[in-house]
Amino acid sequence: MQVLVLGAGQLARMMALAAAPLNIKTIAFDVNSESIVEPITQTKLGSGLAAAIEQADVITAEFEHVPHPVLDACQASGKLLPSATAIKTGGDRRIEKALLDKANVANAKYALIRTRQDFEQAIEYVGLPMVLKSTLGGYDGKGQWRLKEASQVDAIWAEMEQCIASSAAQAIIAEEFVAFDREVSLIGARNQHGEIAVYPLAENVHTDGVLSLSTAIDEPQLQAQAKQMFTAVAECLDYVGVLALEFFDVKGQLMVNEIAPRVHNSGHWTQQGAETCQFENHMRAVCGLPLGSTEALRPTAMINILGEDTLAQEILSMKQAHIHWYGKDKRPGRKMGHINVCGNSPADLQQQLQDIAQWLDASAFPALHQK
Ligand code: AMP
Repeated sequence: MQVLVLGAGQLARMMALAAAPLNIKTIAFDVNSESIVEPITQTKLGSGLAAAIEQADVITAEFEHVPHPVLDACQASGKLLPSATAIKTGGDRRIEKALLDKANVANAKYALIRTRQDFEQAIEYVGLPMVLKSTLGGYDGKGQWRLKEASQVDAIWAEMEQCIASSAAQAIIAEEFVAFDREVSLIGARNQHGEIAVYPLAENVHTDGVLSLSTAIDEPQLQAQAKQMFTAVAECLDYVGVLALEFFDVKGQLMVNEIAPRVHNSGHWTQQGAETCQFENHMRAVCGLPLGSTEALRPTAMINILGEDTLAQEILSMKQAHIHWYGKDKRPGRKMGHINVCGNSPADLQQQLQDIAQWLDASAFPALHQK
């Protein structure tokens, strides 16, 4: 079985690592260099995209910002899972919001902006403070503005106007500012027979819009709510593969912030914390294999390594810490790898996180030092 992954970053790499024991061979399409590569070593394989599509048994994607002509060519081959429609939904906040409404899942009140007049109407309808997000191309908090008071309107409009002008398909979503207690996410898989398996929820801490710490939680009521919303969205999309839903938790009521039609950073903890990791379950789902158990093995958290390419050797000596590097060149703020930390109990996990914090720089790992 050969799987072609659209995108050749760390998610494709971890899919390949999880697929190998199942005798699934993975190749990847690097959208920047437009070449087919081996996803672990990044070695160029020489073949072009058309030949790779032809040779693949299954095609999938590691991210939602794949150029549409590539997605359409893959969809036409009949091998793409999840579908091009599902992948495009995750890459366009306007389609995403329409999906959430169609699936009848709670999400922040919003309005669409293309003109200054739309902006004025959105302020009336949504109210201040509000969050403004570009519908295309924004992720990890990029392409976003916070409008707190009327005096900021002109300055923010100047920037938004430029953003809207960059593409005929571009627009801005104005969203009510949600005073959430915390952010959580649910990762799950749906296979071709419509079977669904979800992991325990993860509680997520973001620093400057980028995920820094994810901890699996065991909260049955919230879990049931999240699973019901996950099922509604996955069924609406006739989704096949791993799907992530990010939520705001407002006093125990969940609202979907966004969806990611792929394996997700907040699911990396499953590599050490669950029976079957999200990468293996994604490969199982798209290859038509039975889903693996999503049961948690032990309390686990994931720490993102942002902009660092070395860590203290002492971390490798810690019994319950597991480092996953992505083999990328160092750049400030770049996701370079992650550390999964396990505990024998939730309290022990918190102790392990405190222990590991002493080896990690407070400026690079702020979430850990706030604990
Ligand atoms: P996003 O790219 O939509 O995930 O947004 C990045 C981060 O901005 C989220 O993880 C939240 O912390 C915050 N955020 C996004 N939308 C809202 C909202 N409507 N209200 C409050 N905070 C938000």
